[in-house]
Amino acid sequence: MHTFTLPSGIEIGLVEMTGAEEDLLTNRRLMKNGEAINQVLLNCTKRLGENAEPKMKDVLDLLSGDRLFALVRLRQVSLGDEVELELACPNTGCGERTPITVNLGDIEATPYGEEREFEFTLPGSGRKVKFGYLDGHKEKRLAALKEPNLTAAMMIRIVEIDGQPPSKKALNEMTMGDRSALRKEMLRVDGGIDTQVDVSCDACGTRIRTRLEAEPAFLFPSVAS
Ligand SMILES: [Zn+2]
Repeated sequence: MHTFTLPSGIEIGLVEMTGAEEDLLTNRRLMKNGEAINQVLLNCTKRLGENAEPKMKDVLDLLSGDRLFALVRLRQVSLGDEVELELACPNTGCGERTPITVNLGDIEATPYGEEREFEFTLPGSGRKVKFGYLDGHKEKRLAALKEPNLTAAMMIRIVEIDGQPPSKKALNEMTMGDRSALRKEMLRVDGGIDTQVDVSCDACGTRIRTRLEAEPAFLFPSVAS
């Protein structure tokens, strides 16, 4: 068993992935709604803090940054540190692939602080927003949405606006300036691991941005992306 400390400070004991997990990860339906990742995390987590028999609820209770951190470490203990990607250029006139190698041991983790709820005053309207962190339960609700969008992703973290539960209407009416300030604040207090990949196309220089976990080669090094 491999032991790591999650960004929230909880210790996790992981065992490497086997064929059972490979089957889960190649199931398109289960990948799409996030069930595959939840099941893989559950199968491979043998200890969470003092808990030696973690259940699905415990895996979903984890904050999203802890979950992604665990997934990155699980990839490392199962398949090694190096992820080789060939990123397609988003510029349709180019279409070249840029090869890059990411060493998972090098990417930075940010610990979560003690607090779980935050208050932020919107700079434009002066309204007070109370918000929390994303966790596995909320990720599951987001994955079930037909049209996930920025409003849904923000709303799911908001506890109250001026003491009232958040509504879609309140989020839609919020100015872009206030929404942008709130998003920045949410990012500022967040913990986790930075899996963003940001490179320039070798051929034309167009910026290519993606997330490691969105690339097939992250979990399947044998599959050319
Ligand atoms: Zn290009």
